[in-house]
Amino acid sequence: MQRIWAQDTSNLNKHELIKLKKDGLDILDDLNNYSQQGFKAINEEDLDLMKWAGLYSHKSADGHFMMRVKIPGGIMSSTQARTLAGISQDFGRGLVDITTRQAIQFHWLTVENTPEIYKRLTDVGLSSVEACGDCPRTVVGNPLHGIDPNEVLDASQLVQQVYNFFQNNREFSNLPRKYKISISGNQFNVNHAEINDIAFTPAVKEIAGNKVKGFHVKVGGGLSTKPHLAQILDIFVRPEEVLKVAVASTTIFRDHGYRGLRSHNRLKFLVADWGPEKFKEELLKLAGPLANRGEDLSKGWNAGYFYGVHQQKQPGLCYVGLSVPLGRMDAAELDELARLAEKYGDGSIRTCNSQNIIIANVPKAQVPSLLAEKLLQRLTPFAKTFLAHAVSCPGNQFCNKAVVETKERLRSIAEYLDQHIEIDIPIRINASGCPNSCGQHQIADIGLQGSVTKIDGKRTDAFEILIGGWLGNTPGFATKLIGRIPDDNIAPAIAHLVNFYLNSRAEGEEFNQFVRRVGMEAFQEKLNQFLGTDKLQQMA
Ligand code: SF4
Repeated sequence: MQRIWAQDTSNLNKHELIKLKKDGLDILDDLNNYSQQGFKAINEEDLDLMKWAGLYSHKSADGHFMMRVKIPGGIMSSTQARTLAGISQDFGRGLVDITTRQAIQFHWLTVENTPEIYKRLTDVGLSSVEACGDCPRTVVGNPLHGIDPNEVLDASQLVQQVYNFFQNNREFSNLPRKYKISISGNQFNVNHAEINDIAFTPAVKEIAGNKVKGFHVKVGGGLSTKPHLAQILDIFVRPEEVLKVAVASTTIFRDHGYRGLRSHNRLKFLVADWGPEKFKEELLKLAGPLANRGEDLSKGWNAGYFYGVHQQKQPGLCYVGLSVPLGRMDAAELDELARLAEKYGDGSIRTCNSQNIIIANVPKAQVPSLLAEKLLQRLTPFAKTFLAHAVSCPGNQFCNKAVVETKERLRSIAEYLDQHIEIDIPIRINASGCPNSCGQHQIADIGLQGSVTKIDGKRTDAFEILIGGWLGNTPGFATKLIGRIPDDNIAPAIAHLVNFYLNSRAEGEEFNQFVRRVGMEAFQEKLNQFLGTDKLQQMA
């Protein structure tokens, strides 16, 4: 492969120069040595390249790592779940996090443990390789693949095909930045298509008199400090064409993506500059001819939530959506989920990008027994509304970019709201410890971004509030209100805004519809009213 970006290195950022000397995947060859020599032996450049092994150093840089394991399409077997539980138990202090891209994260691992962990993962067909780093990440998909009554087509094989192609593939292991792929036949946009680098969404087109089911394609989405909604290309992709389109798009990113300023490297910036027409033109040069767009079969957005007991497309079988508060459970709970999935379902456990779990293929007659299991008292399908719709990144407990702690704070905020407010239409609250938006606060009804403020000259943790994120029809990002709300005021401040909605909404009006109707000024006024003008000035 010709590295065309290496012809002129004058505009490359320092990460690019490191990656030219040593490919991210080369770090896998060093892991055995480092596991014997210990954390202190890892030089700074290799510590950065550890991401390609799925490892991030904890913020304390005390020798502990976070590890992310890819779960393609969010579907794992009970054997895989048990292995993950075992790794967490033996090496990760029993902690298991589900991420907003259907992956599993461990914490507290040390480099000494990595050979054993990789062996265990490999033995059950799992991998953390390229779960982080400037490469194709976990391919997300419909967690209801194959059982979804609303699925246009089962894309699980396509998810696996695309995952297999890119996994450990040195042609694509040096991209300008992370690269996120979504492939789903679900009609309710379960994978947040608009915030992926490339998303395949369900569509149909009449070709030679036949109605062909396939995909539309959106490119160039992403969150962080400069969020972009993915733009639709005027193409229709048959299932057998998905891989070549994914490869073509990734090739464009690899060869034309920006490699200068690190904050300007995601595909979204190239797509914004080129526009969808030019991107399509370049894509067709690589992928060959493709049909023009057909009929979009997306129907709205369920934000990746599947709580409760639901009929599958197979008569007599149900899937049960469980709440995992803030996406965090312990090793024993994951192990128990594996037992329940085997006892009541088909053994599969499915992760959602709302950080929750689905148990599938449960015979209808078995549902009451499953619901009576002790584990389902905590991981319940009928969780209290605010806690059930709270999503958070790991925050400063582990992340070296975090400004504040998030998971426990959001838990207490959600519990406060559940205690004080009765609500019939869920309001989604997402928290991120910094602007990078791993907690996806920009697509939440109410987003919280970690910050700091000063009260009477004393520095205190705070959050900025964003309102009205939505990825259904006419998608848009949440807008930030002015004011940094100190930690101990944030729950009542949100309650004030939620009560404004509850007291003033039209019948059946959802939160995002209400925000669009009344406008941001009305919310800003309510927030100012809550805080008091003096306090706002103090905190500015
Ligand atoms: Fe870390 Fe920020 Fe991402 Fe949270 S949003 S995990 S604090 S980088």
